[in-house]
Amino acid sequence: RWSALASLSSPSDFGPPAEGGPPVPMDLSQSKQPRPPSEAEQQKPPIGKRGRQVKPRQTTEPKISPLERVNQFPGHTLSAKAGKLFCKCCKDELSLIKGSVRTHVQSKAHAANMQKYHERTASNGEAKAFIEEHFLANPNESGGTVSIDNKLYRYRMVECFLKNGVPLEKIDGMRTMLEYAGKHTLTDSHNLKSFIPKIEAQARAATCTRRHRRAILEHLLRRHHSSR
Ligand SMILES: [Zn+2]
Repeated sequence: RWSALASLSSPSDFGPPAEGGPPVPMDLSQSKQPRPPSEAEQQKPPIGKRGRQVKPRQTTEPKISPLERVNQFPGHTLSAKAGKLFCKCCKDELSLIKGSVRTHVQSKAHAANMQKYHERTASNGEAKAFIEEHFLANPNESGGTVSIDNKLYRYRMVECFLKNGVPLEKIDGMRTMLEYAGKHTLTDSHNLKSFIPKIEAQARAATCTRRHRRAILEHLLRRHHSSR
């Protein structure tokens, strides 16, 4: 049987024959499969025809309005700003070359970012409506005079701290930087605590996503266990 196999396969499929015995086939599945590339190899740019371009790209940026691309690829969160084309969900500037835009909108990363973007937008809309409603019902509560986007920023900040199990008091030391980065004002952690019941109520509301609810639930459970 081995001799029949040997005539079909190349000799490299076989290991050296055991002394006095018939040739021993190597693990075929192993010998046929290419070795997975090592980390160093993965970091190297690929070589050959399809690899790194030696010459810079020949296609030049077409002289068209970015708005044209926005209209050519509707529903992809593309936007035109200051003569440039941006992908809002990827937070990236795109080339105006049609093929590049097509490649971008067909990429897996873009699809994943777009899904997150839509979830976030929908959930921001819900949270804003919820916050607005709360402050209308409680006009004397502190923090009611800032813009709705600012309220949402505070709300999301508190939510983020809760979700990650970081004590809210830590905000006080980080406030300057958080306000600078977020381009919205915060208030001290004592005042921000008033957002906790809102976040909990919003989490209980049927409209919020399952993932969001689970995270809040976990936080509540943790608090429940630590208070016992
Ligand atoms: Zn994108």
